[in-house]
Amino acid sequence: MSKIIVSKFGGSSMKDQEAMLRSAKICQKQKSTITLVSATYGTTDKLHELVNNAVKGNWNECEKLLFTLREKHFDILQNLTNDKLVGERLRELINNLETLIRGIFLISECSPKAHDRVVSFGERLSSLLFCEAMKMTIKDKPVELFDSRDILKTNNQFGRAKPNIQTIHHKCQNYFKLDGSTTYVGQGYIGSTDEGSTTTLGRGGSDYSAALFAEGVRADVLEIWTDVAGIATCDPRICENTKPIEEISYNEAGEMAHYGAKILHPTTLVPAMRQSIPVFVGSSYASEELGTWIRHEVEQKPLIRAIAKRDNQALLTITTPKMLDAFGFMSKIFAVFTEFEVSVDCVTTSEISVAVSLDPKTLDNKELIQKLAQIGEVKTEYGFSLISLIGNKMLEQAGLAKRVFAAIEDINVRMLCLGASPYNFNILVTEKESNDAIGLLHKEFIA
Ligand code: ADP
Ligand code: ASP
Ligand code: MG
Repeated sequence: MSKIIVSKFGGSSMKDQEAMLRSAKICQKQKSTITLVSATYGTTDKLHELVNNAVKGNWNECEKLLFTLREKHFDILQNLTNDKLVGERLRELINNLETLIRGIFLISECSPKAHDRVVSFGERLSSLLFCEAMKMTIKDKPVELFDSRDILKTNNQFGRAKPNIQTIHHKCQNYFKLDGSTTYVGQGYIGSTDEGSTTTLGRGGSDYSAALFAEGVRADVLEIWTDVAGIATCDPRICENTKPIEEISYNEAGEMAHYGAKILHPTTLVPAMRQSIPVFVGSSYASEELGTWIRHEVEQKPLIRAIAKRDNQALLTITTPKMLDAFGFMSKIFAVFTEFEVSVDCVTTSEISVAVSLDPKTLDNKELIQKLAQIGEVKTEYGFSLISLIGNKMLEQAGLAKRVFAAIEDINVRMLCLGASPYNFNILVTEKESNDAIGLLHKEFIA
């Protein structure tokens, strides 16, 4: 029985025809069973721009953007196939996109449902082209393009839809021939509701799609191919001297993704963990390099394996003297967070106050602030970065905090979170100082 491999290629691996053919060769070598692709590099951003311009009534800008998208995709198609039907399908997709944008322009409004439909065109276009790159490369078996929306069923939370795991599993088992006789190409990021409306899983969601398909077909391996040779000890764009990580546990990699390491979408590892599917992260530009394996059990468990950060964090503090010797204060605050579906990251408390770090967009909700103001005095501060040291056994290590503070002695730590998980130690600093702090911490603990 051949192994079931689910592979995912991100936007940079779909950048142009050369990148697509290079990615197709990897699928051939790896014997990928199902491959999901992101939109071509930068296309999802362009589709967002398109919607914004249509809503604002800038039709000239819309025409320019549509022209660029059309050129880009027809450029990739050149010499990829002799099949006229593919060109026609491409034209038809772009025309449908234009019709949709014209509708949005005419009513100067775009519902979340229409927005998801627009951005879905990125993956629908790239997968059509990538399927041709695969057919050009893989000659010993059929390559079949499928529509992920037929399988990845979700709720109707447009823009951040939640998958229906049971239905996906059922559809995967019924749809795919998993004996290695066919190789499949589909779209990351997109799904659909039971009624058939297109949904998306949130920015960067193709990783998550691939993990859901891997879970659905009970894959042997999930491969994430991107523009760097696996996970490094820190984002190479932030810090020099990063080191490649050969092996990392689900827990550590999950914390990294959750705390901002863009290399993986935050929820990617959840389906993989549920089925204990090992995940490989590698570079589609240098597929021979080692890359990173993510598994349940790993041989080495260093105290600090990596550092991640999330910029643009806000700090909310609620203070009331009534909390002195009282109880129920926390539950009142968290009842408001639950009511408004607010997700908080770090929490610290004193005798009369509670501080939480969160996404600043949450604080735009006036009703939320009003409700909190009934409990205590509310203070909001902006412009922070949450830095996470990620590793193992942090709760058992004497002197860890001392080393952290000594390494960044000139930088003010506005908040500190340690104690809830053995895998991370989080500090909140100003965005301005965050890269310096990371450089110093990386030098102290890793490099
Ligand atoms: P894709 O389009 O393939 O999904 P992304 O841009 O989403 O690619 O993710 C890859 C990027 O993630 C890398 O180019 C790198 O800048 C960033 N990144 C963040 N943290 C890390 C890390 N710890 N190791 C490697 N890359 C990281
Ligand atoms: N194309 C989508 C995005 O840019 C999804 C992805 O690439 O993972 O967010
Ligand atoms: Mg990504």
